[in-house]
Amino acid sequence: MTTVKTTCAYCGVGCGVLATPTGARSATIAGDPEHPANFGKLCSKGAHLGETIGLEDRLFHPMIGTRQASWDDALDHVAQRFAATIAEYGPDSVAFYASGQMLTEDYYVANKLMKGFIGTANIDTNSRLCMASAVAAHVRAFGEDVVPCSYDDLDAADLIVLVGSNTAWCHPVIWQRIEVARAARGTKLVVIDPRRTETAERADLHLAIAPDSDVALFTGLLAHMRSSWRLDGTALAERVHVPDGFWKTLPNPDVARTCDIAPADLQAFYDLFADHPRTITLFSQGVNQSTSGTDKANAIINLHLATGRIGKPGAGPFSITGQPNAMGGREVGGLASTLAAHMGFSDAERDRAQRFWQSPTICSGPGFKAVDMFDAMAKGKIKAVWIMATNPAVSMPDARMARVALANCPFVVVSDCIAETDTLRFAQVKLPALGWGEKDGTVTNSERRVSRQRAFLAAPGEARADWWQVAEVATRMGFAGFDFANAASVFREFAAQTGFENGGTRLLDISGQATISDAAYAAMTPFQWGGTSPFADRAFPTPDGKARLVPVVHAPRDDASRAYPLRLNTGRYRDQWHTMTRTGLSPKLSQHRREPLVEVHPDTARRLGITDGALARVETPNGASIFRVAVTPDQRRRDLFVPIHWSDQTSAGGRAGLLPGPDRDPISGQPGFKNSPARAGSY
Ligand code: SF4
Repeated sequence: MTTVKTTCAYCGVGCGVLATPTGARSATIAGDPEHPANFGKLCSKGAHLGETIGLEDRLFHPMIGTRQASWDDALDHVAQRFAATIAEYGPDSVAFYASGQMLTEDYYVANKLMKGFIGTANIDTNSRLCMASAVAAHVRAFGEDVVPCSYDDLDAADLIVLVGSNTAWCHPVIWQRIEVARAARGTKLVVIDPRRTETAERADLHLAIAPDSDVALFTGLLAHMRSSWRLDGTALAERVHVPDGFWKTLPNPDVARTCDIAPADLQAFYDLFADHPRTITLFSQGVNQSTSGTDKANAIINLHLATGRIGKPGAGPFSITGQPNAMGGREVGGLASTLAAHMGFSDAERDRAQRFWQSPTICSGPGFKAVDMFDAMAKGKIKAVWIMATNPAVSMPDARMARVALANCPFVVVSDCIAETDTLRFAQVKLPALGWGEKDGTVTNSERRVSRQRAFLAAPGEARADWWQVAEVATRMGFAGFDFANAASVFREFAAQTGFENGGTRLLDISGQATISDAAYAAMTPFQWGGTSPFADRAFPTPDGKARLVPVVHAPRDDASRAYPLRLNTGRYRDQWHTMTRTGLSPKLSQHRREPLVEVHPDTARRLGITDGALARVETPNGASIFRVAVTPDQRRRDLFVPIHWSDQTSAGGRAGLLPGPDRDPISGQPGFKNSPARAGSY
């Protein structure tokens, strides 16, 4: 059978995949040697995609309540309920909760309906939980959400600093590339992570800093570089705006003490950084999923801007995304805090978007970010919500509150390919969606590279594309402009919008693709917007063309208490993905870690009276769950770690989602999943 070139369903590395069908619901999977993200490599999750494409647990038909419905009935019902809610309570009474699993085309149509036609920016996404702080930091520093690096930079760097990233488990193909670079050219590796992860074990230097002390570490490093005359005077004079008083905000505290690391280790890091101008600082959820995530990211970016380590081969601050299309969602305005095509909410930008869409209205400003959206639902302000390709009843922080919100919402629509999830229990209408291997569209990976996901399996039952579902509801609500013939026609419109009155001020401009034919779209090869190094020879997209240093100050969390003396961290296992609705189908992937463990340092375990292999109850002010104990010196004392994957569908205990609170970064709105007050005891 014909081999199809597509893109992996999981992380933001965006690996190219060769899928060769071997039957109606089976395929052999291999890495695409021609794809520039992975050159043929795959990790365990990608390699076992073939085990996850069966029809187990699928949702085959639209459902209204417990009754199977026709698509016409279901779509009419959704359109009528949304229209009636808007008529009675206004446009801000409805919401859309999207997902980094959606394709760019799906995201585009949903965003167009909400912001341009319904007239509310209440569309947010689970990407808010993943990398919203990096987005906010990019906008503050560069004027636009632009990742300034490419994977090629990893090959050219002399020093790679991984911050809050268990790359070996969470972005394994990037990790393989780093390992190759280290072997080939002796690239130094520093890992900054409270846990001694598999990634940290392989580092030249591991700094197990105290949770959320990253701002102190990086502003301390900037102060050190300044005091040792290692800043880039030319860059600071010509390319960077330094706000008045900025240098006075740099700390002179005892950084080693604040970060709880040995002074010699801190000095070793500072020396490595000073001696290796080709530095990539690659960061992910340990930076972003924090109540100070935006400041952390800006502390890293400040350092690179002030030392001239950006826009050059092997140098730059590099945020890598967790999901396959978090970046595509950012491009089309899938976040409540941006408009489409990287535009903000100024009068000129809103007017530009409305004229492009020829829409009857336009949202007046930002909408509810994810946690605020569910909070508004719980308070009765959101009266109808459409959830697509995500499982917030498990994945939201304070998941119990998310369930209260869903139970309290008068009308809940869920589009999913799975028949039963924790979230679907709250749905009045269930719409069957296409899964990986059935979908057709584009995704953008962490280095801004757009790739095709292609269908090689027939749609099961009556499952239809997400973009089609939204376009049908929009049309049934009486809106013109949603008569898309296929995914290619959606892509063309999005591409045109990126160039519409852009004037070259925004880097996101793929308007050259606006006239792509259906055949050319079908044959599209991966391409990267913004080029390999967007800021190598371009001005920054700010009014004066300069990037900004952003004053940031370490602000310790003040929620420690006698009742909750421990700190709880959450994260991923190597072979599982999110809430396991897909990876849970693969027997091989389940062999790596069969159950959720709470990891705890031996000294802490002794004090708590818990032992390796026993059960422990882990509790925060928001909830509690039971985990099997793994005693390990890889944890800091008084820190706990639990995995995020298990849900009511898969486990009676191990429910990490019940534990973190709703506290979030004040700028990005991203929740702080990795540093919650907690306690534990034997069960
Ligand atoms: Fe898929 Fe990420 Fe693994 Fe690549 S590294 S195969 S994109 S999960």
